[in-house]
Amino acid sequence: MSHARPTRFSDRAALRAAVEAWRRQGESVVLVPTMGALHAGHLALVAHAKAIGRRAVVSIFVNPTQFGPSEDFARYPRDVAADLDRLAETGADAAWTPEIDTMYPPDFSTRIEVAGLTEGLCGAVRPGHFAGVATVVTKLLNQVRPDIALFGEKDFQQLQVIRRAVRDLDLGVEIRGVPTIREADGLALSSRNRYLDAAERAVAPRLHAVLARIAAALRAGAAAGPLLAEGVAELTAAGFGPVQYLEVRDAETLAPLERVEGPARVLAAAYLGRTRLIDNVAV
Ligand code: AMP
Repeated sequence: MSHARPTRFSDRAALRAAVEAWRRQGESVVLVPTMGALHAGHLALVAHAKAIGRRAVVSIFVNPTQFGPSEDFARYPRDVAADLDRLAETGADAAWTPEIDTMYPPDFSTRIEVAGLTEGLCGAVRPGHFAGVATVVTKLLNQVRPDIALFGEKDFQQLQVIRRAVRDLDLGVEIRGVPTIREADGLALSSRNRYLDAAERAVAPRLHAVLARIAAALRAGAAAGPLLAEGVAELTAAGFGPVQYLEVRDAETLAPLERVEGPARVLAAAYLGRTRLIDNVAV
């Protein structure tokens, strides 16, 4: 089915008027926050939004405060026109594309810190990242005021951090996770995959293969320690480096686990050349 492009809003009052008009008509509103450079993983979130709600709003904002000083903020891919074309395939109703000054006026002074959940995994190697994420997502939720907001399980720690912030701060929106969309060879779709050269792209699916194998062994009752050591060795031999983490965590609390009894997750972050890849699978 082909649809029109979504209506683009860069003015907060106009966006809010549109959302409030939908609400007055009893229409539910689902928000999908993104940083643009949209791929089939993002589009699956938007399709899910349209399946569970009447109206889908997609925000596109490359949030500077979640990038570290030596990270890829400056070269992060940006092409809003292409993103709007892609969104037309999904039936998204609105694209919220705020300017930097709307999000961060010069005297911006507030930050949301989620303790505990943000201390390990990506939080340990990207100081300040989750404060940047929690702050911008809180703003987006307050700007759009959706009934439901969707986040990918691809960024599993992010999903749990946002669930916690929303609960702790009574933000009054339902947060739902959506399973990771992958290439046929298992590589999780990511806006950063375009940084990979052909040789790196050929190696990249090994990350998911290692995670899937560890998850299967854990399900069969194996202990985490030796599996994780082997996994790091295999990734390193395949050309990844550094492997920032490869861990087994409780799916809710993200506490480290040696053996798996309830819902758990195997999570990894590793560089492949200059590109940082993350992935995780359910146990
Ligand atoms: P990003 O633009 O990278 O900030 O991602 C925006 C949203 O899309 C986040 O909730 C991500 O978790 C989600 N997302 C990114 N890649 C995928 C994927 N391969 N499958 C499902 N969701 C994804």
